[in-house]
Amino acid sequence: MTIVSETDQTTTGDLAAKANRHLWGHFARHGKGITPPIITRGEGTRIFDDKGNSYIDGLSGLFVVQVGHGREELAAAAARQAEQLAFFPLWSYATPSAIELAERVANYAPGDLNRVFFTTGGGEAVESAWKLAKQFFKLTGKPGKYKVISRSIAYHGTPQGALAITGIPAFKAPFDPPTPGGFRVPNTNFYRAPEQFSTDPKAWGRYCADRIAEAIEFEGPDTVAAVFLEPVQNAGGCFPPPPGYFERVREICDEYDVLLVSDEVICAYGRIGSMFACDDFGYVPDIITSAKGLTSGYSPLGAMIASDRLFEPFNDGSTVFGHGYTFGGHPVSSAVALANLDIFEREGINAHVKQNAPVFRATLEKLYDLPIVGDVRGEGFFYGIELVKDKATKETFNDEESERLLRGYLTPALWEAGLYCRADDRGDPVVQLAPPLISGQAEFDAIYDILHNVLSEAGRRL
Ligand code: PLP
Repeated sequence: MTIVSETDQTTTGDLAAKANRHLWGHFARHGKGITPPIITRGEGTRIFDDKGNSYIDGLSGLFVVQVGHGREELAAAAARQAEQLAFFPLWSYATPSAIELAERVANYAPGDLNRVFFTTGGGEAVESAWKLAKQFFKLTGKPGKYKVISRSIAYHGTPQGALAITGIPAFKAPFDPPTPGGFRVPNTNFYRAPEQFSTDPKAWGRYCADRIAEAIEFEGPDTVAAVFLEPVQNAGGCFPPPPGYFERVREICDEYDVLLVSDEVICAYGRIGSMFACDDFGYVPDIITSAKGLTSGYSPLGAMIASDRLFEPFNDGSTVFGHGYTFGGHPVSSAVALANLDIFEREGINAHVKQNAPVFRATLEKLYDLPIVGDVRGEGFFYGIELVKDKATKETFNDEESERLLRGYLTPALWEAGLYCRADDRGDPVVQLAPPLISGQAEFDAIYDILHNVLSEAGRRL
């Protein structure tokens, strides 16, 4: 934890009391004296709190701030647009910034994914994709197709439709019953793959993909509309696709006329090193859902990008996709996204990620010298470090140990040591890292040093 200057200290000393009295945090615990850290400023790859302490932003906010904090030109783009036209909806009208952005995003997208439906965030993009899949099949003579398949532990958002796609039972239980139609298949966690696949990732990929075909057969091909998959699954701790996985999934989707939705809410816009991560893994989906990095977080925005084939039934002068959000494609957010993508082009952000991803990986892999580090996995600037009780047997922690290790020790210790990242136990316990895409060796080394110290101490405490 670096003490910066007095000027970083805010004068609003009672913010914490106000937060505890009135602010309802997202996925946050409250009461018993829990007070959220208050973040007041960002600069490049660092954030600052109300006490003037500085931290490495090891998670880009929440997989969002691709080009780093404190970019004046993005603030200026927002101000210019707000002065000219602060708001107008896309409900049968259009604005120049939304039009320009739709064209630009469509040009980045692979295949014939040429139609962009804007939302305000990722969960809404997922929600929109499921609704589109349902209506598309109703319009094209297959009205029974409404079910969706996704992977265990995958997170796809919190609106009730997206929540039914999310594969984390604990997130859904308080809101039971879920929207009908969500079904789960295994994820691609190679570290936890059964013994017979331990030396053959390709066979593991084939096995996992074939579970999708099995689920479609089991549910009935006439009832299944779409498969939602992240290029690299976040929840559970960064599961990259095994070789051949997406090739086989694409074949299965084509065979059964099931739409392949690439949920790139985290993976798009440079996180893996391309505008869209499906390009990194060599497949063309029918729909991409995206958000977060599109504006680097300087204004909220999401986008569902659909193929020409899916748009076709809506292109007859009368059929309507009866779905929308007041703030979807907000002119200010769209202007910010355009300016953000300008930075991507001008600074070669994707090339930087591609060039530095092996360096990031190699730096994190040095953590393997710690007995508690079982697996280091990920792609691009997106990594998960799985913690284990016994490296040889891969034995994991029970719920009580996980609670004590992650919430009781790791989360506060990493924060106090000056690293903002995430210690997560939606699957087995992992530390997740996704620094801003402008990071380089200096940031990787700083992240490594803190992790090495804190994880060493965690190991000693076990
Ligand atoms: N889909 C994926 C893969 C995500 O990671 C997230 C959020 O992290 C969402 C959807 C939901 O996005 P939002 O929080 O913007 O609604």
